[in-house]
Amino acid sequence: MRDIETIGILGGGQLGRMLTLEAKRMGYRVVTLEPLPNSPCGQVADEQIVAAYDDLRAIGELGARCDVVTYEFENIPLASVRALENDGRLVRPSGDVLRIAQDRLLEKTFVRDAGCTVAPFAGVSDASDLERAIETIGFPAVVKTTRGGYDGKGQWVVRDVADARAAFAEANGAVLIFESFVPFDLEVSVICARGSDGTIVSFPVTENQHDHGVLATTIVPARVSDEIAARVKSQAVTVGEKLGIIGAYCIEFFVMADQIFVNEIAPRVHNSGHYSLDATQISQYEAHVRAICDLPLVTPKLFDAAVMVNILGTNSGDRLDGVHELLADPDTKLHVYGKRHAALRRKMAHFTVLGDDVAAALAKAETARGLLSWRAPRSN
Ligand code: AMP
Repeated sequence: MRDIETIGILGGGQLGRMLTLEAKRMGYRVVTLEPLPNSPCGQVADEQIVAAYDDLRAIGELGARCDVVTYEFENIPLASVRALENDGRLVRPSGDVLRIAQDRLLEKTFVRDAGCTVAPFAGVSDASDLERAIETIGFPAVVKTTRGGYDGKGQWVVRDVADARAAFAEANGAVLIFESFVPFDLEVSVICARGSDGTIVSFPVTENQHDHGVLATTIVPARVSDEIAARVKSQAVTVGEKLGIIGAYCIEFFVMADQIFVNEIAPRVHNSGHYSLDATQISQYEAHVRAICDLPLVTPKLFDAAVMVNILGTNSGDRLDGVHELLADPDTKLHVYGKRHAALRRKMAHFTVLGDDVAAALAKAETARGLLSWRAPRSN
């Protein structure tokens, strides 16, 4: 067992912030590295190193100040994680895991080879690959860049050959994955955490609703049969074991009738796990800290049904109105991330509502959502 006092986090967003708050509660020091000063995570961490993610001198400094380094998003350069590992620093999850999760083609191939179900897909590096994919996968399909996409960016739904060629042209030489479009009934995800001793625990399966590619609402537990939920968890555990990941991770699935398809692996804490701060006795953030610090992992227990609502900016001001009314409900918890500008679709905050069942929590969440709006601050 390692003696860990200080945790390093690559990335300074809200996931890092919530991870830091839980780590601090558990007695750890936290240092974050992120290019923008006074980041959501930097505001609550012991220190923030203000540097680019590919600044290897700064990355080396982070490694020197910490006993373990982790990350809160997967689009950090693999070379930075490799540099830490080559310096003998402990990085959890490892660079090998990050490499797979950063590349949709490697990821889908890995998941398929692990025996899990995925929608038919093909890699597209050039025009002849595209024609082959059109023939073998067919339409409708989703074309995605293999790297760097998030929240629905870098992807195109294509319904015919003309669409597919247009997407290929727009991608401008980026390597692509051509996937069969899944007309799913719902999207679900599951957060798991795996320790260095191989223990894996899983959180309840959640149902995720998106708006313009950005997560809007998470419903817990997902409205799927026990049998589907068990299959989702079992595939997520299999992926975690095969990856040998250490830390929390999230696997997203499409559910279509009685079929499930893995969509994506996030080797980190995830937006769809925010609810766990308020609705389970151990949050995904605590589970991650426990996993990377060699503390015991315990099975999460759900207190009540829960609905998490993301509060996104609208570009109409930086002051959130309606908080007074929102907080009148005893079953509602608000989490605000400390970002100054509520730009359009920027994740600014979230709230979680608990209820006796999903219908009750959803009804309250919908009312609560309607209470909130953004406005410009009064000028004095
Ligand atoms: P992703 O970045 O892969 O998570 O995709 C963003 C969103 O696009 C997903 O949450 C789905 O709503 C949609 N999507 C992605 N891939 C597919 C697919 N193969 N079939 C249908 N919808 C998809």
